[in-house]
Amino acid sequence: MTANDELRRAKEAAEAANAAKTRYLVAVSHEIRSPLNAIYGYAQLLEREGAIPPAEAGSVIRRAAEHLTNLVEGLLDISRIESGVLKVRQDVVRLPALVDHVVDMFRMQAAAKGLSLDYVVNGRLPPFVRTDEKRLRQILINLLSNAIKYTREGGATLAITYRSQMALVEVSDTGIGIAADDIERIFEPFERGSSPDAAAQPGIGLGLAITRALARVLGGEVTASSEPGRGSRFRLRMMLPEPMVAPPRASAYERVTGYHGERRTLLVIDDDPAQIAVLQNLLRPLGFMVFLASNGPDGLALAERCCPDLVLLDIQMPGLSGWEVAERLRRVCRGKLRIVIVSANAHEFQAGGDGRSSHDAFLSKPVELDGLLETIGRQLDLGWISAGDGAVGAETPRSAPLPEAALAHIATLRGLVRTGHVRGIDDALTDLEAAAPASAPTIAEMRRLLDAFDLRGLARMLDDVG
Ligand code: ADP
Repeated sequence: MTANDELRRAKEAAEAANAAKTRYLVAVSHEIRSPLNAIYGYAQLLEREGAIPPAEAGSVIRRAAEHLTNLVEGLLDISRIESGVLKVRQDVVRLPALVDHVVDMFRMQAAAKGLSLDYVVNGRLPPFVRTDEKRLRQILINLLSNAIKYTREGGATLAITYRSQMALVEVSDTGIGIAADDIERIFEPFERGSSPDAAAQPGIGLGLAITRALARVLGGEVTASSEPGRGSRFRLRMMLPEPMVAPPRASAYERVTGYHGERRTLLVIDDDPAQIAVLQNLLRPLGFMVFLASNGPDGLALAERCCPDLVLLDIQMPGLSGWEVAERLRRVCRGKLRIVIVSANAHEFQAGGDGRSSHDAFLSKPVELDGLLETIGRQLDLGWISAGDGAVGAETPRSAPLPEAALAHIATLRGLVRTGHVRGIDDALTDLEAAAPASAPTIAEMRRLLDAFDLRGLARMLDDVG
């Protein structure tokens, strides 16, 4: 080989390396684009005051920002994987919340393209698993963002099945599909689908390479199958062992003593007295006004009178099912009523909150305090008060027991409520105010019930405080 040949080869190699670097930079910009779009979109919604609860926008923006941070780290990971020095974390991860959040991140994007986005849990998910949280999240984000990007109509579904410490996550779509010749190649860095439809989408072919590399590092595997023109299905199979010892429960919420802002009314409809007892004992001390019903018709009648902010609704009840009750509640209580389905049967899982379902969220029984408060907080846009925050005023539970001096008035009130003597109740409440001035918020709540002619609610409240 002449010196000239050598020089030419060295020059070609340098040029190829330069081209790879340029492609890499373009790829990075593309990966940055989807979280930035989420931040941009939600920031605009925030600017249009009232378009969206600020807390909801805040949490999407925060998660998108987290994704960007993760991305930077992900890119570093790739170089670490390539050089064989990547360290895998063993976090204890709340699997249901993690998948929920990832799906939530894409709701706006899917809706903007007119696509459905479904989340299906087959069987039961363990509350906690041990894995590298950030990397698992990144894998799910990559697969879902592709499913939405490469789909023009129909939609995407994330389905998850967990059995014997193994998770199978399937992300399927009704999109353009992948040619048989491409199905393996697309997992290579910088390789993209050969069809014009694929090329028309922005991207540079790095996502699946990262996804497969991360999955392998976590002891899993990602494969793809497709019917070109009809859709694709990506399968992630990986070991997600449950921790031997459950982490301390209620870590985030155990110190919660109340919430900021006006008092909120909750209605629990459940035919299981034990469930009702658990929920009311969890929620009343936090300052919620809690009404209870043991079947659908009673719940509907009560809802008409107490106008709840949020209903916790069981599905399986004799007579009307929870789904039917949810439909009717929407008609009875117009406006901002939030409905959370609570079910013991994970097969019935439907995420809700997509504008098409009658419910806004879904909780699995047995209800865990963390999940319950997280859901209620998100739905009602509540800021929680924790012990040590100096909870005062409206946050103080208003159905706290009344002082000794008020008890005689409570007895009088009970008698008046039984006979439905509205004027008498009004007068007795005035007397009670004079006898227990420190309990003004509780008495104001009683007046509100009286004004709404909710004598049953008032009777319950008297039982509570007496
Ligand atoms: P990018 O999307 O930036 O091209 P990826 O590595 O994520 O990079 O994907 C590589 C290629 O695989 C894409 O260019 C596309 O052709 C194909 N692909 C990935 N996901 C899908 C999907 N859900 N439907 C159809 N094609 C897909």
